[in-house]
Amino acid sequence: MEFKPEKYSIEDESMKPFIDAGEICDYINNANPTKESVRKIIEKSLNKNRLNLQEVAVLVNTNDPELVEEIKAGAKKLKENVYGNRIVLFAPLYVGNLCLNDCKYCGFKSSNKNAVRKTLSKNELIENVKALEEQGQKRLILVYGEHKKYSPEYIAETVRTVYDVKIGNGEIRRININAAPLDIDGFKIVKEAGIGTYQVFQETYHPEAFKIYHQKGAKANYPNRLTALDRAQVAGIDDVGIGVLFGLYDWKFEILSLIRHTNHLEACYNVGPHTISFPRLQDASENDIDEKYKVSDEDFTKIVAILRLAVPYTGLILTAREPENIRKEVLQYGCSQIDAGTKLEIGAYAESPEIDQNLNKEQFLINDSRTLNEVIDELVNDGYLPSFCTACYRLGRTGEHFMEFSVPGFIKRYCTPNAILTLTEYLIDYAKPETAKKGWKIIDENINKMSDSKRKAEVIKRIEKIKAGERDLYF
Ligand code: SAM
Ligand code: SF4
Repeated sequence: MEFKPEKYSIEDESMKPFIDAGEICDYINNANPTKESVRKIIEKSLNKNRLNLQEVAVLVNTNDPELVEEIKAGAKKLKENVYGNRIVLFAPLYVGNLCLNDCKYCGFKSSNKNAVRKTLSKNELIENVKALEEQGQKRLILVYGEHKKYSPEYIAETVRTVYDVKIGNGEIRRININAAPLDIDGFKIVKEAGIGTYQVFQETYHPEAFKIYHQKGAKANYPNRLTALDRAQVAGIDDVGIGVLFGLYDWKFEILSLIRHTNHLEACYNVGPHTISFPRLQDASENDIDEKYKVSDEDFTKIVAILRLAVPYTGLILTAREPENIRKEVLQYGCSQIDAGTKLEIGAYAESPEIDQNLNKEQFLINDSRTLNEVIDELVNDGYLPSFCTACYRLGRTGEHFMEFSVPGFIKRYCTPNAILTLTEYLIDYAKPETAKKGWKIIDENINKMSDSKRKAEVIKRIEKIKAGERDLYF
């Protein structure tokens, strides 16, 4: 790997880029996995310790099929120990695709004249949120292109609009954001609106590769993007999400960089990223990306397993970009959140006469277009406990406090009971009868497994309250 160091002018010294591509390449070039070293590293992770860059480099260089299977088995075991069987569900909602950037891989890039540009009006936004609530969604991620129109004030306004939409028992209880990097004041404005996580994906951490894909607009500024979540932290947003778009550059380099970014956030703010996302490049309108760095299914499943082992306590988000069979496999290795019922066409959740359903304006293609009920049905068939829990953020268990709670016992005390209660709501309010039947069985199984008899009794009491009409009960 070649790397030419580059100088950036950064006004604030504390927000200097922290990726040294040469150093990361050295780690990769000098890591030689042996049976003993790989097993020792898996063991360290199973004892719930974060792995360092050197150890992660050993895992990424592991090619021996037997050892790769051990890495995957280790991830599976760790997932079961740390996260149990619950999977948190959410849906993305694209608010607008105006964009001044020209990211080579994205259907929304400014040079794509075939993209139909659209920003949801307030009414359209409300109609879409109502439709999502009527599916049973409780957690959304709002997504925006990068454009003057999508100012912090605008983002905050859309967040407030979404929180205000209530239909039947439906409401959105947590809104995460995926939007352009802001300055500190901008992040403060968005925080005020009550957001959960703010996500900014670096796409590729390699400065030279980054330059090739991002030649126009604000996104061409690598350090500005790299330090976005530092500014979010300074502004008081302590749940931040990092990510890489796999397929733009060497995946080994990207994994180590994600860990480097995690270390940086932990060192500076005492709290690592709340979530890591690892989208794989999908076909998009007018997209002609060299396939040199395309990530195979085999490597992708390995990537997820390595990430799980590397950061035992960070949420891993898997999206509908991946096909059903891959989603099914990597769920076992420790993804804690997935989207379901996803539609990427702007305005497509609502069948409102005001929204032209014939416009084809997808940012990229998705591979899993099942409904929320279908996804839940499969999750319960496979023994997972679907969850719409939003308790931590609403009780102030964010950032450092969330990390503190990410210790043994936390999942049992909070996450499982809250998953049971939110699934109870879903089964009563939205599930198809056959899914509800299976869902109640999963709820019974999970209640029976609860060892804390006091909490168990309280969960049973609250389920009865939900059956009697109460909603939004959480620990
Ligand atoms: N405009 C903001 C930005 O670029 O950060 C936020 C929205 S952007 C639509 C969200 C993410 O979609 C990007 O960060 C990128 O990782 C992902 N994305 C873009 N093009 C993609 C493609 N062709 N396949 C898969 N993911 C893609
Ligand atoms: Fe715009 Fe984001 Fe797409 Fe880049 S990835 S073109 S910034 S919407």
